Amino acid sequence: MRKRGPAEVKCDACGGTGHQPAHEIEPGGRIFPGCCTKCGGKGHISKAG
Ligand SMILES: [Zn+2]
Repeated sequence: MRKRGPAEVKCDACGGTGHQPAHEIEPGGRIFPGCCTKCGGKGHISKAG
């Protein structure tokens, strides 16, 4: 059997941390919740298919 990669890939949006950088603050005092919206805070994304 050939070597296969993991079914889940590290989220490149947060770097696998599961949360976005803290410097993402919107004007008006609205602060991001910190949870990465791309991976849903998991830090990794399941490969489709
Ligand atoms: Zn992410």
